[in-house]
Amino acid sequence: KEYASEADTDFVLPANQEWARDIVKKWKFSKDTQHEVKPIIVAGEEIRDRIIVEAIDKSQLEEKVLAGKFATATATDLKKAVDTAKADVDGWRSLSHEQRHAALKQVAIKVRERRAELLGVAAAEVGKVFTETDVEVSEAIDFLEFYPYSTHYFEKYENLEFAGKGVGVVIPPWNFPVAIPLGGIAATLASGNTAIIKPASAAALTAYEMCKCFWDAGISKNILQFVPCPGSLAGEHLIGNKDVDFVILTGGEDTAATMLKTRADLYLTAETGGKDATIVTSMADREQAIKNVCHSAFSNSGQKCSATSLLVLEEEVYNDEAFKKALADAARSMSVGSVWNLNNRIGTLANPVSGKLKKAIDTLEDGEEWLVSPEFAHNNEYMLKPAIKWGVKEGSFMHMNELFGPVLAVIKAKNLKHAVDIVNATGYGLTSGIESLDEREVEYWKNNTKAGNLYINRGTTGAIVTRQPFGGMGKSAIGAGRKVGIFNYVTQFMDFKEISKPK
Ligand code: GLU
Repeated sequence: KEYASEADTDFVLPANQEWARDIVKKWKFSKDTQHEVKPIIVAGEEIRDRIIVEAIDKSQLEEKVLAGKFATATATDLKKAVDTAKADVDGWRSLSHEQRHAALKQVAIKVRERRAELLGVAAAEVGKVFTETDVEVSEAIDFLEFYPYSTHYFEKYENLEFAGKGVGVVIPPWNFPVAIPLGGIAATLASGNTAIIKPASAAALTAYEMCKCFWDAGISKNILQFVPCPGSLAGEHLIGNKDVDFVILTGGEDTAATMLKTRADLYLTAETGGKDATIVTSMADREQAIKNVCHSAFSNSGQKCSATSLLVLEEEVYNDEAFKKALADAARSMSVGSVWNLNNRIGTLANPVSGKLKKAIDTLEDGEEWLVSPEFAHNNEYMLKPAIKWGVKEGSFMHMNELFGPVLAVIKAKNLKHAVDIVNATGYGLTSGIESLDEREVEYWKNNTKAGNLYINRGTTGAIVTRQPFGGMGKSAIGAGRKVGIFNYVTQFMDFKEISKPK
């Protein structure tokens, strides 16, 4: 019953660099590559004769290279998936926790073996650089080993029986295409439920490769079913199906709201984004702050719920011309380009620029100016370079909106109290950072900031299972669990019976 976190790949080692070059050779397809269609998996069957979606490799846009193709489920498929998940849950639920633990340990072994494949497919399909997917694979292994382990906590209650609720539907985002879908499935299965995953359309191939680790480790295709499909179809035929016992969503507040509108009695647990800030006070190590902020704001093109997208500078720092120049230089130095060139730190956006991100790069409001203006690398509409908007005003669009892109908003604060007020005003509460070497400042900030993951003098991304249980408050979370990677996460998906006899 030991639990320890999985180590990431050390890309400094020459042998690992060689390993990474081999992944490029295998996964950087050419235009003529024939791709097998990845099937939907319903009731144990692989089904391909459906509407096919082609995923493009955005690093090779001009060459029009595909990352792959996948089939999409119909309404009838979704109904059948729910019926199957319901009919088959008893067998899985009646296993002992040890048996399920052992089964999921086998999956962890497969994920460990398939690290290269997962890095390759996420690069091709989602545009993530290897170093970013690598930490996800470690997190995925941690989820597989930790969630079954976390149910042992309840064994000390002798008369407490617990069993899975039934059918769980996992609706993950595309930005962490391995760890988030896998975490949802691992929690669902570990607590004795059957799982249906509707992957994000922009990350379905990666989700398939990840699910293969379960099937190849012996988890049946009835216990874990795979149904990519348009969101509207899933809304009606998965969320709207009363035989679905719970839904695990990581996505927008609007998606969560729509789900609850579709089904008012839905048992939903959701992580719904953030507008995360880092405060830099006059007591900060300013060079360290720049390094941490640039990584938190721009890695994976800022497409993380945990990304710093608001930089709140105390007046003295705001007026420090050397700081301003060094921040701009650091942002410009982050190379954006093809995921197949291992020197690039940032790959491509998962989707074309639209909506709030488009508005952010197209407009300057009163008082705003570009410290680093938004530009596309290599004339590629998916390769948006880091940009920094200076002089953002309180209450403005840039202050209040999650953008999910590499555009950092800089706001001036009179003092720390004012800075914390600016941070809390967003109404979100996922991650938050402070750069200050003064303990009293840090204490004030810690006690007054409304966020679930607080980071002191370090980046705001990359939470590690059990060490930094991840999840927030306010507009960032819905449901009971609130945090993943903590022992009580799985309890949301179980029913408990306390059985007392006369003494
Ligand atoms: N857990 C991730 C992190 O700590 C963020 C996940 C997300 O974007 O939803 O960076």
